[in-house]
Amino acid sequence: MNPVTGESIASHAIASQADVNEAVAAAREVFPYWQAMGFKGRKKALLQWNSYLLENIDDLVEIVSLETGKPTSDATLEASLALSHLGWAARNAEEIMRTSYRSPGALMANMSATVERSPVGVVGVIGPWNYPVFTPMGSISYALAAGNTVVFKPSEYTPAVGKFLADSFLEATGLMGVFTCVTGLGETGKFLCESGVDKLAFTGSTATAKRVAATCALSMTPVVLECGGKDPVIVDRDADLKKAADAAIWSAMSNAGQTCIGAERVYVHHDVADKFIEHCLRIASAIKPGAPGVGNYGPATMPKQLAIIEGHIKDAIARGGKVLLGGIESVHAPYVDPVIIADVPEDSTAITEETFGPTLVINRVATMEEAVALTNASRYGLGASVWSKRNGKKIARSLHCGMVSINSVIAFAAIASVPFGGVKDSGYGRIHGPEGILEFTYARSVVRTRFHLPIAFTSFKRTAGNDKLIVRLNKILKGRLG
Ligand code: NDP
Repeated sequence: MNPVTGESIASHAIASQADVNEAVAAAREVFPYWQAMGFKGRKKALLQWNSYLLENIDDLVEIVSLETGKPTSDATLEASLALSHLGWAARNAEEIMRTSYRSPGALMANMSATVERSPVGVVGVIGPWNYPVFTPMGSISYALAAGNTVVFKPSEYTPAVGKFLADSFLEATGLMGVFTCVTGLGETGKFLCESGVDKLAFTGSTATAKRVAATCALSMTPVVLECGGKDPVIVDRDADLKKAADAAIWSAMSNAGQTCIGAERVYVHHDVADKFIEHCLRIASAIKPGAPGVGNYGPATMPKQLAIIEGHIKDAIARGGKVLLGGIESVHAPYVDPVIIADVPEDSTAITEETFGPTLVINRVATMEEAVALTNASRYGLGASVWSKRNGKKIARSLHCGMVSINSVIAFAAIASVPFGGVKDSGYGRIHGPEGILEFTYARSVVRTRFHLPIAFTSFKRTAGNDKLIVRLNKILKGRLG
């Protein structure tokens, strides 16, 4: 459905449990062939796919823009960033999964010790609609590069994007079953959780993540959960205020505020708050929502989100927040105009819950310690942005979250070599970077006897003298036996 016009664009199947199981069985069948291609073969196939997507990026962008309502320039940036991750994962998987050699320790000096990395098998990926290429590709690219096969269930709001990705993989590589897509509603996602996949990578809301984790727990299926956030922008007294305001407004309002790592609240030092707010108001008053090609950002892709956004604005106002830009009337389906509210009490839903709209709360703090404490009080811990010339690293280190950008916003998502993910209600596990490759592997320890010792510790022939020797050695080495 086109969220701008409400018109239907195309019809897609609702995959049944049997359909999902069939896709997973096909992925399992082809897994040994994908494995046998080795790192070099997989790298070649993934780079072929990357080139194909780059050549056909306009088609992909058009579908993203149609299904989400976002400007084509935003969809282009999203697709380009996703492809940079695909290229990085394809090129680096071999090095990251290389067998590592470990010290066997003093007691086991006669052994060699190695750790091998193997792909888990078939990975199920469930994705959201807000960045329907970038977000699931963070799991799909890294899982495939690690040698897994993948079955993907896109959001019901962006099924054509999911199908485009899977069809393009087949078209570019000619490999059947390695990466496929099953479309459907939430229940299709549940079927994927129940299908016996070897790992499930979920990106979406915290509420659904809990359901996914509970379903997967029944079959001991491990999960990666990339969930919501309430990301802060922290602005210190010595920050470049113009740049901080520009970045904060873009982070909060672009993509209609539907960004998991987008700014939702600002903690600005009291001494510079008025100046910072002045910059924010100037920038935000000049932007407006609209259809692709018309607005700076699009509609709320999911109509039911409008009531949540309105609820948070109402709650902030009812608790004494000062509306600086827009207000309740800014919510007019399918769009929401920019809203800025200051001095909102910390127990307002506008602070405690993910709003996912083009709204920003700006609260003043007396010190950066206060900003850190308020940031860490949230049940979420996804990303953060810190603006300070001198104290950026110090503030960043104090934050209980998965990712921090100093004097920038969202930059960590565009750097393929660093992991992406959160803590607390924002989820667990990591995509992107070496950690994102290793997430879709398991470690296998392989130790080998290089020569036999005269004392057999792992034998019924072990004597009381041998036991004494172990204790004595342990004392001499002060516990460094292992
Ligand atoms: P949802 O949680 O509503 O849905 C996510 C996916 O889960 C969809 O494909 C959905 O299918 C599917 N699903 C729904 N119910 C079930 C179920 N019982 N079992 C298995 N799968 C199910 O999230 P949204 O799509 O609304 O995405 C927005 C959320 O995603 C926000 O909270 C945002 O912060 C978060 N997000 C997090 C990111 C991160 O990396 N941390 C990145 C991007 C977004 P269907 O759509 O068909 O219902």
